Amino acid sequence: MSTAEATKPARVRWTHQWKELYDEVINSGLCTGCAGCVIACPHDVIGYKHEPGHYKPFHLEEELGETNCGHGEKGCTSCTRACPRFRDWETEADEHLFGRVREDDEMAGIYKDILLVRAKDDGVYETGQDGGLVSAILIWSLENDIIDGALVSHLESNEAGGGWKAIPGVATNRDEVLAGAGSRYTYSANTMAFGQAKEQGLSRLALVGMSCQTSVAPVMWHRRVGKVSKPFKLNIGLLCSKSFDDSMFDELFAVKYGLDKNDIVKMNIKGVFQVWMRDGSYHEINLKECHAWTREGCLHCPDFAAEHADISTGGIGNETDWTLTVVRTDLGRAVIEAMITDGVIETRPGDDDPAAIDLMQRLAQKSRERWPTWANPTARVGLPTRK
Ligand SMILES: Cc1cc2nc3c(=O)[nH]c(=O)nc-3n(C[C@H](O)[C@H](O)[C@H](O)COP(=O)(O)OP(=O)(O)OC[C@H]3O[C@@H](n4cnc5c(N)ncnc54)[C@H](O)[C@@H]3O)c2cc1C
Ligand code: SF4
Ligand code: SF4
Repeated sequence: MSTAEATKPARVRWTHQWKELYDEVINSGLCTGCAGCVIACPHDVIGYKHEPGHYKPFHLEEELGETNCGHGEKGCTSCTRACPRFRDWETEADEHLFGRVREDDEMAGIYKDILLVRAKDDGVYETGQDGGLVSAILIWSLENDIIDGALVSHLESNEAGGGWKAIPGVATNRDEVLAGAGSRYTYSANTMAFGQAKEQGLSRLALVGMSCQTSVAPVMWHRRVGKVSKPFKLNIGLLCSKSFDDSMFDELFAVKYGLDKNDIVKMNIKGVFQVWMRDGSYHEINLKECHAWTREGCLHCPDFAAEHADISTGGIGNETDWTLTVVRTDLGRAVIEAMITDGVIETRPGDDDPAAIDLMQRLAQKSRERWPTWANPTARVGLPTRK
């Protein structure tokens, strides 16, 4: 044994199981509903309801009740290894991706470049929410054999063939990518499409998800969860300050404004909730009215800027038809550079829209302020301390 090996601190054995996850994350209110624990469970004893009022994991076996797990008692630790809200999740993911932790002035996470980007393909650009970058990345990565599938959000069809319920789905080609383009502001735990991807034999995946979901893979890698983490190759984040419960459509949009969710063709949030309908009409709903339908899992979320994605994307600022693009990792930079070389995207410096960068920093601070003072203090690093 070399001297260096002899002095290396021993890795502390990870023994935490469902019991701790339930106490510290699920029951405490920190759980975002990202479903990382669900897909990581090798015994399939964690359930998940993708329905209004739920979006939380629960234990399926009756033996020890909802708060403890028989497999955990025998040594299984996969769920806590996968959870991006358990204990030192933020610093562990930072260390894994960047080799260091976030500094006080890195409110929106560690990054390399900020750009404004849009897809050059008109079909992709027009279908996308902002500049269509996310869809362009997925299509380019599939066509260049970098991934063989993407976990995205699709829309569930109702009996009439319409529908506005966001559900997790798998995309393996351009049409399936574009079927999911655009933003729904209700929750879709895209990680839950992992099972379908496995059934389809896919082994090199991109995950598209809000901030909460993009920390899943880096935390899994760092905590060596094993097989389940291997297919995640590319991590695309969506900037996010909240998502809404699906019941908002029926209880607010339909009741007060007569807007049937089945007739919505596009929605966006730009200071107000903007809604475009099939009959060509356009409506604005005050965001304050929507707050009562904020999904419970978002109330303590500290991550606005998808700080653990390879590339994080948003639509704030003055340049609303461009995707505000935060390039974080070497992989993220390599993908953007190769796409520029291949002529599939158009870019401008982020400095062309300083208001967007400034707003991102402010919204990132606002989200971090939601992280409770009784929880792990690292997610609040950089916040001004109260006198
Ligand atoms: C719930 C939510 C909240 C957001 N909040 C903000 C915000 O506060 N500020 C901001 O700047 N940007 C926010 N965004 C991101 C923004 O709306 C765009 O998704 C982003 O700018 C990328 O645009 P694009 O044109 O490049 O993506 P597109 O090419 O349109 O691709 C969008 C991708 O997002 C996926 N997606 C859509 N809806 C959902 C969903 N509900 N759950 C999971 N995946 C989904 C789609 O499957 C698709 O792959 C939010 C997005 C979502 C889904
Ligand atoms: S935050 Fe995600 S991984 Fe953690 S308990 Fe909730 S759903 Fe599971
Ligand atoms: S605010 Fe957005 S990122 Fe945070 S838990 Fe809610 S959906 Fe996830």
